Amino acid sequence: MTAQLNPRGDVAVLVPAAGAGVRLGPGAPKALRLLAGEPLLVHAVRRIAAAPSVHTIVVAAPATEVEAVRAMLAPVAPVTVVPGGAERQESVAAALAAVPAGPEIVLVHDAARALTPAHLVESVAAAVRDGHDAVIPVLPVVDTIKEVDATERVLGTVDRSALRAVQTPQGFRRSVLVAAHRSAGDALTDDAGLIEKQGGAVMCVPGSELALKITRPFDLALAEHLLTTGA
Ligand code: C5P
Repeated sequence: MTAQLNPRGDVAVLVPAAGAGVRLGPGAPKALRLLAGEPLLVHAVRRIAAAPSVHTIVVAAPATEVEAVRAMLAPVAPVTVVPGGAERQESVAAALAAVPAGPEIVLVHDAARALTPAHLVESVAAAVRDGHDAVIPVLPVVDTIKEVDATERVLGTVDRSALRAVQTPQGFRRSVLVAAHRSAGDALTDDAGLIEKQGGAVMCVPGSELALKITRPFDLALAEHLLTTGA
């Protein structure tokens, strides 16, 4: 059944899904790889659409797959699909440009985090609503982290208590994200990085183990298992 989005919602979610996904091995673009018989992007959009504050979802698809992605998502939720760019940042900018007037909170969510629960979408959005311009979901780092040189010689041990592993969705006051993209320089791997570079404050909220990024074959196997446990 097609989900209904909330016309009174104040949140737009951008889903960059135009990456090739070479780390998963050869095959379809990463967002279109199958997880339990359905593309990662379908899993991701279904969970976003279940979040009650979501008014709009915009997906940036591989340029050659826009029509196919539109058809694939039509039964899942009402979604706008635009062609992505060569870099993630370009894909996010293309999706941002397609957000209609209305939502004042914009979340950016990787399609590869296909099992992200709707409550994480809500908690990130709530922190923006509470007055933070930029909000990221994070987990503590459990491994010991070493800094190394180009020859793999250890330079030192980093204090992990001050480190966080960052997930998506990352949430922004709309005007702040638009301004950050307008003056963006080098391509970064996340949107909060743009705000940091421009001197803005970024606040952390607790992330979710289920928001893992499905990047390597092991992650795909783990995600399949999590689905069998009700994720
Ligand atoms: O490559 P990486 O794993 O960092 O990609 C994160 C997300 O950004 C994925 O959902 C991917 O599809 C998306 N992406 C994109 N356009 C690109 C590169 C990546 O939308 N040119």
